[in-house]
Amino acid sequence: MKKIAVKFGGSNLKTKEDISKIIKTIRAYDRPLAIIVSAFYGITSYLIEGLQNIQNDEAHVRSMIEYLKNLKREALEENIADGKKRSEAYEKVKIRLEELHKYLLGIHYIGEVPDFVEEKVLSYGEKLSSLMLSQILQSRGIDAVEAMPEDIGLISDGEYSNASINFPVSEKSVSSALSGDRIYIIPGFYAVSKDGRINLLGRGGSDYSAAAIARCVGAESLDVWKDVNGYMSADPGLIPEAKRIDSLSYSEAAELSYFGAKILHPRTVEPLLENKIPVRIFNINNAGSIEPLTVIGDPDTENGKNATLKSVTYSDSFAILKLEGAGVGIKEGILAEVTGLFIRSRINIKSVVTSQTAINIYLDSPDLRAAASMLKAQMPQAVTTVSAQDNLSIIALVGDGLVHSRGLAYRMVGAVAEQGIDMKIVSVGASDSAVYCVVDRPDREAAVKVIHEAFFRCRSPDTF
Ligand code: ASP
Ligand code: MG
Repeated sequence: MKKIAVKFGGSNLKTKEDISKIIKTIRAYDRPLAIIVSAFYGITSYLIEGLQNIQNDEAHVRSMIEYLKNLKREALEENIADGKKRSEAYEKVKIRLEELHKYLLGIHYIGEVPDFVEEKVLSYGEKLSSLMLSQILQSRGIDAVEAMPEDIGLISDGEYSNASINFPVSEKSVSSALSGDRIYIIPGFYAVSKDGRINLLGRGGSDYSAAAIARCVGAESLDVWKDVNGYMSADPGLIPEAKRIDSLSYSEAAELSYFGAKILHPRTVEPLLENKIPVRIFNINNAGSIEPLTVIGDPDTENGKNATLKSVTYSDSFAILKLEGAGVGIKEGILAEVTGLFIRSRINIKSVVTSQTAINIYLDSPDLRAAASMLKAQMPQAVTTVSAQDNLSIIALVGDGLVHSRGLAYRMVGAVAEQGIDMKIVSVGASDSAVYCVVDRPDREAAVKVIHEAFFRCRSPDTF
């Protein structure tokens, strides 16, 4: 029987009571599964912060371990009724925390955090989740076993902190390691390099882990459980009348993640494209019902024909670095210099727009300050000024084939301009599926509302 790969994320692991919803869901499947788990909500950030504090504060090591121990003990008390089974599970948790304790102490004594140790420490968020869940399921008589990436051969390309999976070397071993008719619980967020070191898959990367496992086992689907009602035509916090989206193509889902929708990690669909494994999104608050809210799969439109606007999304984590100089538009090599500098500091460029006198580089807000000071210290030739603009938002319309639909950009620009909102940039054509504009952050809310209103007013989304 083909497996289903099932992902439970941090949003499903916020409180000790959440685990009962996960168990109910697993029982409702009633079939062999490959389950991928994230760390409990907020734990990865807690570990990252802890790594800074422990370098010159030994007491902090103990308090981190105590904090984690208590958290896990409470979750076991809530979810394992049998005292003997509970204390056996707790012993296993303590052993795992002892390992973490040793790494934290090591960091404290050497006073710095080498990359490979940092990755190892951060993987414990997920390793504690997989241990907890497998113990709790076993205590309920469910045939579930923990399966670690290092034991099943989930191999990375060796890059630290933002690794990719090496599928040619992983597929066979992962699929045979997970071939039993039972439930496997795999910690997400990391894989191992060929020489056995842990490599993280980027923040939020357990979605990508789950997709990688789905591909390796040839899963029927990748089922991602969230605490919201799937993809919507806009952020329902901002637009209460936003509508649920039943289906998305892979590229629509990828663009929505890229432009700010927080449902899936932007890389999730990558491993699934070749074998067309669908992603199904569920809400854990409907535990017990295996009815997907949004299904991501093959496109249901051909480019340009019946293009449908699916969603209006936005991101406030958007900034522009402006490089000005009389001739930057025709001077060769400027971008090569800039990207060379940025690569060394792992700064990702989101887009570039140039003219004769200016090069605009779009970045994630948190990267802006470092990027600006780096360029000011090493000004590329022909550039006379470097200026940073933050406090901007990007708003994107997403739907396959939109770019070919005449009048769409005009309607978006018209709707925003009518409100007297200034647009910094409008872009059509970077991909077939996304059209976007950039506005000042304080205008974002009004702009999203007016765009959503223009395209979704009292009916199903427009077909162009
Ligand atoms: N726990 C990791 C993070 O917070 C991975 C994930 O949640 O997907 O980034
Ligand atoms: Mg996540």
